Amino acid sequence: MKTLKTFFLLVFATTTSIVCAQDKNVTITTHKLTESIYMLEGKGGNIGIFVGDDGVFMIDSQFAPLTPKIIEAIKKLSIKPIKYLANTHHHGDHTGGNENISKQNALIIAHDNVYKRIKDNPKQSDASLPVITFNDKLSLYINGEQVLVFHVDNAHTDGDALLYFTKSNVLHTGDTYFCKRYPYIDLNSGGSVNGYIQAIKSALILIDDNTKIIPGHGNLSNKEEYETFLYMLETLKRKVETEISEGKTEEEVALNSSLTKTYDDLNYGCCFISSEKMRRTLYKSLKK
Ligand SMILES: [Zn+2]
Repeated sequence: MKTLKTFFLLVFATTTSIVCAQDKNVTITTHKLTESIYMLEGKGGNIGIFVGDDGVFMIDSQFAPLTPKIIEAIKKLSIKPIKYLANTHHHGDHTGGNENISKQNALIIAHDNVYKRIKDNPKQSDASLPVITFNDKLSLYINGEQVLVFHVDNAHTDGDALLYFTKSNVLHTGDTYFCKRYPYIDLNSGGSVNGYIQAIKSALILIDDNTKIIPGHGNLSNKEEYETFLYMLETLKRKVETEISEGKTEEEVALNSSLTKTYDDLNYGCCFISSEKMRRTLYKSLKK
């Protein structure tokens, strides 16, 4: 037991030092979507930035060590202060910079469960907490536009919010969409395959062929790619459900690479979630 603990501590220490070393080399790339909306890429979840006369509205904050670089990038887009920061969910690669941004006098907005999960996380301070929370949806009227912030149940986590800019026709999905890669569905934080699929369907009702989509991870996207992603998930879901109905075990499904071959060949397992991890997640979530 002690050896196991030491092993995990070592792994943790190694991972942490790799992360810190990489942060020095991270550059923040700004993508212009419209005259007033931008996507910032650095390390962690994609950031959305909305600028205008009222101030800067920010979506997600990546990791704390990146805040100075992120603020530098935002200052090139607007001289106004950051007024609001919305969190799409509680994960550290989306909320790690919360404390730093709230110290800039920004108000943090998130779903009720994001508040609970940050509050319960000893690594995050009270300054990281949302000050405005909601349980279903809210509208923010800023910079001459209605921004719709809406919750989807048990998708990537139990506290996901998607944001739709009603005039600019831009959608930020948070981690309820990973562009051209297998998604991380956090079953331990209330996520589920069925909820994840439902989240995409709910968002598809709002958007059209011209909508620009900021995914949680991956490149800037559009409706066509979003629908392809939905089709991928529904196809894999059906396949794994068949396996389950035939009495297959988690190990059998995890090792059966033919189930995901079409998408493995398209390199969907490139990043955080390997094809085996995807099959395991599908099995665990659908077996329930
Ligand atoms: Zn996440």
